[in-house]
Amino acid sequence: MAETPVYTDADPTLAELLHTHPQLTVDPTCGLMLEGVALNAIADSVGTPCWVLGAGTLRARMQRMHTAMSNAGLDVSIHYAVKANDHLAILTLIGQEGFGADIVSGGELARALKAGIPADHIVFSGVGKTDAELEQAISHGIGQINVESAEELEAISAIASKLGKQATITLRVNPDVDAKTHAKITTGLAANKFGIPFQDAAALYAHAFTLPGVRPVGFATHIGSQILTTAPYRAAYARVAELVHTVRAAGNAVSVVDCGGGLGICYRNETEGQPEALAGAIKAELGGLGVKLAIEPGRWPIGPAGVLLSSVILRKAQGMDVPFLVLDTAMNELLRPSMYDAWHGILPLAPQAFSQPVSLTHVVGPVCESGDTFARDRLLPPLARNARIALLDTGAYGAVMSSTYNSRPLAAEVLVEDGQWQVIRQRQSVEELWQDETVPSHLAKAT
Ligand SMILES: *Cc1c(COP(=O)(O)O)cnc(C)c1O
Repeated sequence: MAETPVYTDADPTLAELLHTHPQLTVDPTCGLMLEGVALNAIADSVGTPCWVLGAGTLRARMQRMHTAMSNAGLDVSIHYAVKANDHLAILTLIGQEGFGADIVSGGELARALKAGIPADHIVFSGVGKTDAELEQAISHGIGQINVESAEELEAISAIASKLGKQATITLRVNPDVDAKTHAKITTGLAANKFGIPFQDAAALYAHAFTLPGVRPVGFATHIGSQILTTAPYRAAYARVAELVHTVRAAGNAVSVVDCGGGLGICYRNETEGQPEALAGAIKAELGGLGVKLAIEPGRWPIGPAGVLLSSVILRKAQGMDVPFLVLDTAMNELLRPSMYDAWHGILPLAPQAFSQPVSLTHVVGPVCESGDTFARDRLLPPLARNARIALLDTGAYGAVMSSTYNSRPLAAEVLVEDGQWQVIRQRQSVEELWQDETVPSHLAKAT
């Protein structure tokens, strides 16, 4: 198992967080700004909790990925992993930047198509695809299906044959390399549920050529998420290259290698994954194969583009060694700290807070779970009731993982672009929480 990252050094200071997050600045009167827009102005108008996403940051990071690949002389399609943030506005923007989509469900396929991403620029990944999802994907003429098991290959062949279509497929292989990331986000170990065991892949690939309704074009791999160094990528790609040579020697053509996603970002004090280094790893291991290449980034382009704004409900200090700061946002909005022990930066919105002395604080949400904790022993300036904060790096795996646990309506979402901002998701109303619920008439009568 991959171990949880262990931090032995001190947390970054507020100034250090600002330094590693250049999209955030502090204006002496307006306070914390994202891409030049005052976050307090957004919170005044929309309220909290509220997700804010900077389109400029997202566009710049996507362009950097694109440039990194082309500067390395690589022909690489980029398929954004929709699960990181599936808002229609985001998918529309991503399509405009020339990215395709990597999807893991029929719902994501429908969203990507609705956002105008062409079907032939969509790749379908995921360990369990239903008949209905496969029919939907194949009838739309989806670009590629990454097959995760022998059983799924048979199902795709049957469904495509029934529809009178040919499904373009790759086999997703599990290279059994340790991405050295958190156990809940590692996917490339033999013990994980993902992909086809490496030792079975060549035979299954040969078998695929004998099946009707499928057109095998190559291999895919995805070893995990929040990967910060190139060593695990190189190890995985070397194994895929070995596989390509093996199946070619057996007389089967390979024209595509899908290199997956997983590039990590700086949440705390990590040196973030570099697209240029990823391009180097791809080039070194796969550059000579004469195949069409693809990557599937989710977290890297969009994670740092987002913040979650919240207000302090109260500071519970009496009788405590370390006070609890109770926020109006909770694990039902940002699940990552309770699910992955994730560390998220916390910055105040008020300008004066940046020059005040800091002291140790636990930061929690109001949900009735001990796991509803954002930070322990965090050094923060004084934050009284109704003071506002921003939780950083919430653009990926943030709003998409929200629930309405504790009857907490889904938070509003705002997009910042060119110094302007716009609500892209209204805050859900309390009535909307139960609009699809039915009280059976015999119960209604009894009351
Ligand atoms: C989740 C996922 C990705 C994206 O991972 P990131 O760490 O967000 O880049 C890419 N490909 C597949 C198959 C995935 O499941």
